[in-house]
Amino acid sequence: MSNKISVSILGATGSVGQKFIELLIDHPWFEIASLCASEKSTGKKYSEAANWFQPTPLPDYIGDMIVQSCEPSVKGRIAFSGLDSEVAGPIEERFASAGYAVISNSKNHRMDFDVPLLIPEVNAKQLELVRQQKFGSGMIVTNPNCSTVGLVMALKPLVDNFGVEEVSVVTMQALSGAGYPGVSSLDILDNVIPFISGEEAKMETEPLKILGVPIKISAQCNRVAVVDGHTESIAVKLSKSARVEEIIEAWKTFRAEPQTLQLPTAPAHPICYFKEDNFPQPRKHRMLEHGMVVSIGRLRPCPIMDWKFTVLSHNTIRGAAGGAILNAELLVKNGFIT
Ligand code: NAP
Repeated sequence: MSNKISVSILGATGSVGQKFIELLIDHPWFEIASLCASEKSTGKKYSEAANWFQPTPLPDYIGDMIVQSCEPSVKGRIAFSGLDSEVAGPIEERFASAGYAVISNSKNHRMDFDVPLLIPEVNAKQLELVRQQKFGSGMIVTNPNCSTVGLVMALKPLVDNFGVEEVSVVTMQALSGAGYPGVSSLDILDNVIPFISGEEAKMETEPLKILGVPIKISAQCNRVAVVDGHTESIAVKLSKSARVEEIIEAWKTFRAEPQTLQLPTAPAHPICYFKEDNFPQPRKHRMLEHGMVVSIGRLRPCPIMDWKFTVLSHNTIRGAAGGAILNAELLVKNGFIT
């Protein structure tokens, strides 16, 4: 008999849902008890319902599990949600009302006043908000948008040490961020698409709730032909002057609660700074510390703002499933989930 906490995955067949499965297969605290998706998948074996496109093989016992509908009678104390945002809102509320700890990647509840919008290294204290929720033993905790995560992780040490007033960010976002099957090959090969619906507004608002400081942010979001890993070109105006080595030191030495608590999914070094002129790159660096590191490089003076640099983070790991699992670990370690 295992004494691990049983979890269900909502939206288990999708891009984020598959990453949840991959990351949870050998998790020391959690075990997958149920896989849920839409009507078209319900009742099928997982291996038939999902087109598994992860780099690791699908274990037989997962492939043989029968996909269930998203009803809060399925097994699991935690419900990790990778649901399409068209349907996530009410389904997640029903699960929370039935006593599940819902950890969501969808936008629906992110800006609710009593819902934590959590990056454990940045605003672990926001977990306290769940005490204001009306779900009894259930709760909803959310992950930020996948491109917000890289931006905010890079900004946090700057906010703490120098203050940040203005940010300009231009993204080059991976295909897996568009879900499965996502953007058609004929649309994206030999091309860049300079629009991702709703993305710029999320990047301009979510960091304010997470960091709790008023920053003016301008975001421009592009889809590029990279499979995994969002790259962001960022320029910042700081509140007080800083030297190049001070900024790099602030990034390199950044540690927070997940590292102190040694949570299983926490990277030992949450930010990696590269001195090479042509780093970071998605193919080379997205999998550092199992995809949980935010890579930064190319720090240089900006003639318009103060500084500019490049950030890379894995969108379905640090920006979605891995981040959500880290949230759940923080909840468990702090006694919110027993
Ligand atoms: P996706 O690949 O399109 O997967 C969506 C999932 O939702 C599928 O499992 C699908 O099941 C399920 N679903 C759709 N309609 C449903 C319904 N009526 N009832 C129950 N389940 C339903 O999308 P994704 O990229 O994984 O994204 C999932 C969520 O995470 C979205 O809200 C997205 O914005 C967010 N997110 C994504 C990323 C990323 O990098 N991909 C990062 C951060 C956040 P079927 O297969 O049965 O249709």
